[in-house]
Amino acid sequence: MPYTAGDTHAFEAAGQQFLYLVPSGGIVDLNPVASAVLNRVKSNPASREDLLAALPFEAPDIHEAIDELASFRAILDNGEKVEDPPQDVPDKFPLQTMVLNLTNQCNLSCGYCYEFGEDKVATPDGKPKFMSWDTAKMSVDHLFTESAGRRAIHMTFFGGETLMNFPLLKQVVEYANEKAKAEGRYIDYSLTTNATLLTPAIIEFLAENHIGVTVSMDGPKEMNDQLRVFANGKGSYDIIAPKVRSLLDKHKTRPIAARVTLTAQVTDVLKIFKHLKHDMGFHEVGFAPVTTSPNRLYAIENNSMDRVLDQFKTLAYEYRDAAVRGEHHGFSNVSDTLMELHQGINKSHPCGAGLGLVGVGPSGDIAPCHRFVDSDTHALGHISTGIDKAKQQDFLQRGHINAKYDCHSCWARPLCAGGCHHEAFVRYGDTGHPNLHYCDWIRGWTGLCLEIYGEIATRNPQFLNTFDRRKTV
Ligand code: SF4
Ligand code: SF4
Repeated sequence: MPYTAGDTHAFEAAGQQFLYLVPSGGIVDLNPVASAVLNRVKSNPASREDLLAALPFEAPDIHEAIDELASFRAILDNGEKVEDPPQDVPDKFPLQTMVLNLTNQCNLSCGYCYEFGEDKVATPDGKPKFMSWDTAKMSVDHLFTESAGRRAIHMTFFGGETLMNFPLLKQVVEYANEKAKAEGRYIDYSLTTNATLLTPAIIEFLAENHIGVTVSMDGPKEMNDQLRVFANGKGSYDIIAPKVRSLLDKHKTRPIAARVTLTAQVTDVLKIFKHLKHDMGFHEVGFAPVTTSPNRLYAIENNSMDRVLDQFKTLAYEYRDAAVRGEHHGFSNVSDTLMELHQGINKSHPCGAGLGLVGVGPSGDIAPCHRFVDSDTHALGHISTGIDKAKQQDFLQRGHINAKYDCHSCWARPLCAGGCHHEAFVRYGDTGHPNLHYCDWIRGWTGLCLEIYGEIATRNPQFLNTFDRRKTV
């Protein structure tokens, strides 16, 4: 019986042919015999005898290549079917991460904010603006109970502007640390902030408690101040720059990251990276195109996205060269993707939202993640009564890769799985809709990272050991 080609994506790196095995998320390099077998089968189904007759290699080598390719399903025995991932989401699975939105208030009025802007999904009217201690305590208890069986758990603090409710953050850390100690477990913290409210005392607390910090900042003054402004329109750069420098100087127990939102007004990736990494001294800088409906003034048009991808490429190749030398580079978009590739991640859902991760809003509503908190439409329960299993199942069933027909033939699906549920809702009105507006971008980016992975795996494989452990826990 002839062999047919399996579901793979071939790529070249360091003069070598590699294969990304889509159903498993594995990566293998191919020797010339295996390459020839695969290429022959791809062009036309071929039996073992056909391959032995057609290829200019020794018979034992061809047999070995066929057996190996078949063993990881790069070629399939005629009629063989590769199973889809199971569609049913297990009834019970442990929570790993909770995002606590300590407040929905913010002292900035960034033009693109998903929480307050034109695309907001939150319905905060009549709900508390600041989380109370009772709600926070119930949230910590919920995280510990629902994560039973996990030794290490994670809590992220978010807003609004997180530091507008710093006293509660402190109280939560003290309470959760005691609880972790009593249970012989480990809890790790992180927060996202606009940095406007950082003080020496807050920085000291963050450093002492090993709290990971991500600062939302869009680059040098002329770029940051385009949209990251106070309510009176004044830019935030002059306020935050000295505070960020002090944070970077004093907080050494965890690497500090910057997170940049790219908009129509702010797309100079190389200049932004240089400023934040080299002038300011952030350990890592990550970029995300703004989440928005396509008609907003700050939405990035397709040709600007191409320019962004070109600049991403330049930085990604810098990253590759540094990795080959065994050096840290700091472009976190690459390290995040390499980590997923290295760990063989193959997703049924685009992210942990509603699965191993939940968000809790100031009102105590439980949401799939921080972007959905305080939204009546998306609430999955309340912290006083727990998760509504039926709502959670509905959210997860709709977001499952099997429910996204357009993604079934896409080789990038192990990492993408249709993309962010929140962006899907903003764009298509359905959290389970695949984000088809950015497929070219995702495939271009994943292909680039595969190539970089192959280069590093060939030229300095020890570097990849840094990705053996997950970043957060
Ligand atoms: S959204 Fe697009 S890129 Fe992502 S898995 Fe689906 S088809 Fe592929
Ligand atoms: S739904 Fe989107 S914003 Fe929420 S955790 Fe997933 S990727 Fe992040």
